[in-house]
Amino acid sequence: MSPIASINPTTGETVASFDADTTEIIETKLATAAAAVPALSALGFAKRRELMHTAADLLTADADSLSKTITLEMGKPLAQAHAEVLKSARALRFYADNAESFLTGYKLDKPSAVGARSAGTRFDPLGVVLAVMPWNYPIWQVLRFAAPALMAGNVGVLKHASNVPQSALYLGSLFARAGFPEGAFQTLLIGAGAVASVIADPRVAAVTLTGSEPAGASVAEAAGRVLKKCVLELGGTDPFVVMPSADVDAAVATAVKARTSNNGQACINAKRFIIHADIYDAFVEKFTAQMAALTLGDPLDPSTEIGPIATQQGRTDIEQLVDDARAKGAKVLTGGTPSSGAGWFYPPTVVSELTPDMRLWSEEAFGPVAAIFKAADLDEALTIANDSPYGLGSAFWSTDEAEIERAEREIEAGSVFINGMTISYPELPFGGIKRSGYGRELSFEGIREFCNLKSVWRG
Ligand code: NAP
Repeated sequence: MSPIASINPTTGETVASFDADTTEIIETKLATAAAAVPALSALGFAKRRELMHTAADLLTADADSLSKTITLEMGKPLAQAHAEVLKSARALRFYADNAESFLTGYKLDKPSAVGARSAGTRFDPLGVVLAVMPWNYPIWQVLRFAAPALMAGNVGVLKHASNVPQSALYLGSLFARAGFPEGAFQTLLIGAGAVASVIADPRVAAVTLTGSEPAGASVAEAAGRVLKKCVLELGGTDPFVVMPSADVDAAVATAVKARTSNNGQACINAKRFIIHADIYDAFVEKFTAQMAALTLGDPLDPSTEIGPIATQQGRTDIEQLVDDARAKGAKVLTGGTPSSGAGWFYPPTVVSELTPDMRLWSEEAFGPVAAIFKAADLDEALTIANDSPYGLGSAFWSTDEAEIERAEREIEAGSVFINGMTISYPELPFGGIKRSGYGRELSFEGIREFCNLKSVWRG
């Protein structure tokens, strides 16, 4: 079991460690959460909107110190941590302003058709929702769940990743500081092993998990045993397809960003680059040169473009994926060897000539490792794009309308970005298919995931 501790990935030093909540503390927190359900509901949308804006103000005011905490806990460049905090504040305001309209039910035009004087729908909160969250966007991942949950009248309890306890504790006090009722959003300091019993607790109505496939399977199993609603946002091996009509220079620049933002540790980082044969050599040469030129270093230094991998195990995982591919005949065009010295650094890496027997063909590399594929034509490009157990995001570069239409229709993923890279926005639904999970976050779809869509009939 991982210790609940902040270990600076730049140095390998333990910054702070925490005791897990005892059974008694968990019991108190769950009782407080359950008691907060009617209190939160009684506030109504207008008051919750005001409090959510206050939470966004606090977050914005805390952006400098909080981004430093993020960087020291998980290693992303400071500017990216800062951008994450501000983006989270935007999501809070988005749900503050839109929740009520997103949760307005409809009335039937002809209620007589169902024998009623009036009939329609309404959305009611489910109650206490457990959020099991990852370390890679320690503030954004949590708040994109918490903002719609609280605005809908649901109460949140957070089990954050064990390596970001300071972010977790910050989040556990944010909503109380903003004036939400006691217990409306709390952090449980618990390890993964304690999650199933919290899911089984009768006071918990539902669970959402963002994380890896094994964690998702384990949470879905625990939720299934007690028949509770479950949303899963899991991993991905997102394709980034480039066709000959595309602006290759723009595609290369975006591809580098799409693979390496967040130190290459985002579920929606592009991971497989599928390049048409006609532009393959030009793309690969430029892409490799730009990947090799990125500045790896201390994420607190403003000139750093890629910081360390967040955990030692995470670095070992990508090292093994690249070593396996190399041993089976793949070409490593740049990078491919962990940096020596302190910290868990791994350089930007480009691997080509992959074959299906290599793990990198189908497994997610959670670090700055790009897998390159050559496609003879559109059919082959789409076949490779869909040859993955995952289906989270995707990007497709072309100016040919017929190709774009096929890509939008045929790529098996929760999103398709044309001539761009996959990004999450509060306004657009986010989620995946296949082994990337089920359910959606963000937009009006996300806020409805943890609501009871109730039919109302009046005779
Ligand atoms: P992880 O190991 O699955 O951890 C995620 C969370 O799940 C942590 O809080 C972890 O707690 C908990 N957990 C782990 N095993 C569990 C189990 N058996 N039962 C209950 N909870 C469990 O994932 P990670 O390595 O932190 O994150 C990387 C993965 O997340 C990647 O696959 C990435 O693609 C995916 N991800 C997906 C999205 C998305 O929106 N689709 C977004 C971000 C990341 P501990 O830390 O205590 O182990």
